Amino acid sequence: MLIITFDIDQPDVIGPSYAVGTILAHFKMKEPNRVVEYYSINLSDVRVKGIESIFFDLSNHFSLVSYEYIAISAYIWSEPYINSLIQFIHSVHRTVRIILGGYQIAGLSISELNLKYPDVYKYIEGYSEKAILNIANNSLDEIDTQQLINMPIDGCDIYSPYLTNIYRLYNNIKKVRLETKRGCPYRCSFCSHDVCHSGKVIEKNIDYVISELNILKKYSIGKINIIDPVFNCGKNYKIILQEIAKYDHNTAFTLQYKLNEKLDFNELELIACSNICLEIGIQTLDDEVLKNISRPTNVKNTINNLIEINSIGIDTEVSLIYGLPGQTLKIFIESIEVLKKIGLKKIKAYPLMLLRGTKLFLEKQKWGLVEGIDEFGIPIVKKSNTFSEEDWESMNELALKI
Ligand code: SF4
Repeated sequence: MLIITFDIDQPDVIGPSYAVGTILAHFKMKEPNRVVEYYSINLSDVRVKGIESIFFDLSNHFSLVSYEYIAISAYIWSEPYINSLIQFIHSVHRTVRIILGGYQIAGLSISELNLKYPDVYKYIEGYSEKAILNIANNSLDEIDTQQLINMPIDGCDIYSPYLTNIYRLYNNIKKVRLETKRGCPYRCSFCSHDVCHSGKVIEKNIDYVISELNILKKYSIGKINIIDPVFNCGKNYKIILQEIAKYDHNTAFTLQYKLNEKLDFNELELIACSNICLEIGIQTLDDEVLKNISRPTNVKNTINNLIEINSIGIDTEVSLIYGLPGQTLKIFIESIEVLKKIGLKKIKAYPLMLLRGTKLFLEKQKWGLVEGIDEFGIPIVKKSNTFSEEDWESMNELALKI
């Protein structure tokens, strides 16, 4: 089997991409004799060299005719290239079975999927670990004749790319990723976690996570990005925080942190004593816009909590989104000003993407959301009922220089 992904280049992070790392780890644990290879297509290279040249590189790297299955990741950023990649592969190897997985599979019926991506053998909806292994073993044909496969996993199915040696660790790696859980209990209307995983959170076994932290500790790693969509939910995160607190300060951690209505000061003290940066996605500081994206957050409360966290001296990166339904240029500017007034040093803003299958994707017309294409060919919202393209350009400019 060959797995092909499209990735945004992250030069300091060891690869393959974490999603592939856990699939390879799962194969290694469940079926160590199966050969599974991996190819990452760098989106910056596609931009510079053109997709034809990338396909040429791919066929130089691998003997495509030797694979029974080729799995391709389907995300919003790979969407423009998926069909041409499938066509190219089939032009070289007509009978290879194509498997498509990723968030772009969400929200479409099987007939819609087949219209969109002709010539696909199986689609994987949701997490891929178990589904891809079963497809590769042909075991699904006996138990499941469906073309759209959804095989739920639990915490024990998530193996570590570090403990299974998928990633070769060495001293002074600049950055690694780690997950302690998957899924998110919240239901923001623009986010794929809602539609793909229905608010379910799957926690890894706590002893397993501690083993991963212990092995990483031996390698003087510069930064460990914990990629859980929301770190501070579930039952284990406080134990994990205590483990992180045992690291020396040469290793920095980043956590995606949800500001709860009531702050937990014991937890914040522990964070303040560790080398942790909290990444807090607040998206906007406007009550109405928050309602429009199904985030029932009280803005006053959020501001007070941010003031509190900042005064404790916790390293914090707060992020906004521009292009949200009901947002105006004025609302966006005001949100930035409030964050700056609090004294927050790290403020980021990202353009809104409409992810297939999400509630907001289905509400496109309601809010008059119009997409344009960014420099990587990724669709982003550039106009709506409440902001013009010129307003969007101003928001974009502001976002680049916050
Ligand atoms: S945006 Fe964050 S909090 Fe909201 S559903 Fe997605 S992961 Fe959860």
